[in-house]
Amino acid sequence: MESAKENQPQEAHVLVFPYPAQGHINTMLRLAEALSFAGGLRISFLNTEHNHRRLSRFTFRPNFRFLSIPDGLPDDKPRSAQQVIELFHSLRTRSVDSFRALLLAGGNRDPDGWPPVTCVIVDGSMPFFMDPAQALGIPAIVFRTISASSLWVYLQISQMIEAGELPFPADADLDEPIKSVPAMEGFLRRRDLPSICRQTTKAEDEMLHLFANISTSATRSKGLILNTSNFLEAPILSKIRSLFPTTYAVGPLHALVESITSSSVSASLLSEDRSALIWLDAQPDHSVVYVSFGSLVQLTQEEFLEFWHGLLNSGHRFLWVMRPDLVAGGTEAVEMAGLEERARLVAWAPQEEVLRHRAVGCFITHSGWNSTVESAAAGVPMVCWPRAWDQLVNSRLVGEVWKVGLDMKDVCRREMVESMVRAVMEGKKAEEFRQVAAEMAVEIGRSVAEDGDSMFDFDRLVRDILSLSMCASIAQPPHRSCPK
Ligand code: UDP
Repeated sequence: MESAKENQPQEAHVLVFPYPAQGHINTMLRLAEALSFAGGLRISFLNTEHNHRRLSRFTFRPNFRFLSIPDGLPDDKPRSAQQVIELFHSLRTRSVDSFRALLLAGGNRDPDGWPPVTCVIVDGSMPFFMDPAQALGIPAIVFRTISASSLWVYLQISQMIEAGELPFPADADLDEPIKSVPAMEGFLRRRDLPSICRQTTKAEDEMLHLFANISTSATRSKGLILNTSNFLEAPILSKIRSLFPTTYAVGPLHALVESITSSSVSASLLSEDRSALIWLDAQPDHSVVYVSFGSLVQLTQEEFLEFWHGLLNSGHRFLWVMRPDLVAGGTEAVEMAGLEERARLVAWAPQEEVLRHRAVGCFITHSGWNSTVESAAAGVPMVCWPRAWDQLVNSRLVGEVWKVGLDMKDVCRREMVESMVRAVMEGKKAEEFRQVAAEMAVEIGRSVAEDGDSMFDFDRLVRDILSLSMCASIAQPPHRSCPK
């Protein structure tokens, strides 16, 4: 005879675990926030202890909480771009046991008396956290925070090697097209490949294969979530769906959250300087160039000075996010005297609000995927200066596919900065960019509204989480409707 407990669906409890870097946390916190409004779900958002200390100041709904586990590095060790690989290895070798222990806690053993976890959403750049969950009978869904296009390129690494397009010599013509990545033949060049592909010298390169394997490991999950939409990347999404049939394109998530909750969610690890918005209030419409290179990119002194002089020479006003660690060796060279009227520097800005401000006319960006979709959703044309990783693919989308800005890739000269800023801020070409950007923003707004594609995929994700949760076996025997 079936017990009463067996008939009762267990409470759905989703654990969301981003890679411990600002861009990943932002995206996944937005997803977690949207899920907490879906009804019937409890959300635990897992950070490393290092980030937890900086994020736990946020308050959320009663069905939302933050948890933390150690990342395995000493407290005083920096966690900036230079330590990305070290942090990755530490998480892989030192944090999996803590993760397993956390999953095993539940009910009486949970610090808040919450029910056991019934579904995990893990950052796909750390697929090794899927295994302990699945071994305990907890279904795992993967979230990749990069663009569908970048993911597709990583997934095609073996095909590029087989076709003899990877690796290529250091002195090769970078404008040569790449032909072996389906759906990208029309625009992808060597120059646009992620840095790991550009840097490699041998087909057996360990890092190259690590990136490829991380990407294919999503096939071991119950589904793949992407912060994109059909409108932004339809041809590539259809390719990805041929490998991962259960793909949810729910982006841009910051816009989806706003559509669901009528407010935005900020997950800044640094405190935001809101005086940027007051300064913008005093500027004319579309008159300001917003400059930010995200949370990790570092500039050399030379690069910094090329941007600085390029901006000054353009004659336009600018608001620049000058993180304390942005420029190697500091920014003593900056002379602000006499510039107060037309320039403003902040250590960290409320970026989404800045981009939506009527005074912003252009965004100089490193083309991190969050920054790219935030700009697109706000209808702001971009000048892209991608440095590494997936940014090199994203900036090609901006410049050649969406045609909503210009791609400075591989060039960092003041004349180039000046001429690109002028092209996006002045004259007929600038009007065209603004028009395309405005149309994109409208379409993005449609995709996250009720009946939009992204909202449709989000609703499907919630339904699937609820039904997967009934079959999670950590707490109790799976519901009778579950496959045996
Ligand atoms: N960001 C912000 N304030 C700033 C600069 C950046 O809030 O002054 C946010 C931005 O809105 C985005 C994230 O930091 O959500 C950066 O993510 P992205 O993927 O663009 O780049 P990454 O930092 O991962 O290189």
